[in-house]
Amino acid sequence: MLIDCHAHLDSFTNEEVADVMSRALSAGVGAVISAGTTERSSARSIELSQSFPSIFAGVGVHPMNLDSPLDDAALDRLRALASSGEKVLVMSEIGLDFMDGAPDRAMQFDAFRSQIRIALDLRLPVVFHSRQAHEDVLRVLREERAYEVGGVMHYFQADARVAREAADLGFYISLARPLLRLPHLQETASRIDLEHVVLETDAAPQPFKAKRENWTEPRHVQAVAQKLAELQGKTLEEVDETTTANVRRLLRERWDVVERHTGSIS
Ligand SMILES: [Zn+2]
Repeated sequence: MLIDCHAHLDSFTNEEVADVMSRALSAGVGAVISAGTTERSSARSIELSQSFPSIFAGVGVHPMNLDSPLDDAALDRLRALASSGEKVLVMSEIGLDFMDGAPDRAMQFDAFRSQIRIALDLRLPVVFHSRQAHEDVLRVLREERAYEVGGVMHYFQADARVAREAADLGFYISLARPLLRLPHLQETASRIDLEHVVLETDAAPQPFKAKRENWTEPRHVQAVAQKLAELQGKTLEEVDETTTANVRRLLRERWDVVERHTGSIS
């Protein structure tokens, strides 16, 4: 069973999600973690996880969605969401984004640190976003001792040095569809130890793509796995088994929740 460890299914309707999940299953993708980007989308991801056995939830506020600081009341609400059910598996999507026009950096640092602290309290791994901010992201994770709960560097596109640094801290490197087209990423991925890799799609509605069939969906984890197998001279089965075993190690005791809801044994 392949796992999409980071997608955004919250803005699809339940009918669409049902179709997306059935296509995922046909492609061997048996579980999807739908990450929140705001309080509202976190709540919606939890709601989806309650309606669909193969969907699990992440709770968090994305750095690009910070329109004001996360005050104590907001943090209390996030903590309540993150502890609201067994299908919440990770704090996600949190991190830093230093693109032009991104929210104030001091506010981002505060929000990132506060959400890591919630993750540590609740023993939830962190699935983190890093854009033009790798050094700062890894520094904050180290300073906050986030490696105690572990986590995932999501939508990895950085170089081998960053991959090694993240892996040395105990974080997994999450590969997505850019692996299919970016030569530098293919080169890096060919040399990352598979023991440190998980897979995702970051799928979300893409209305700017003219054809619906071209939207990224969890089913595309299979193509990413296939590409990684080619690059590493392994079989698809090996990539499937190892990346799923990695998610199992990431989730520790919470893996049991995945097994019970998906009926998977591994
Ligand atoms: Zn995302």
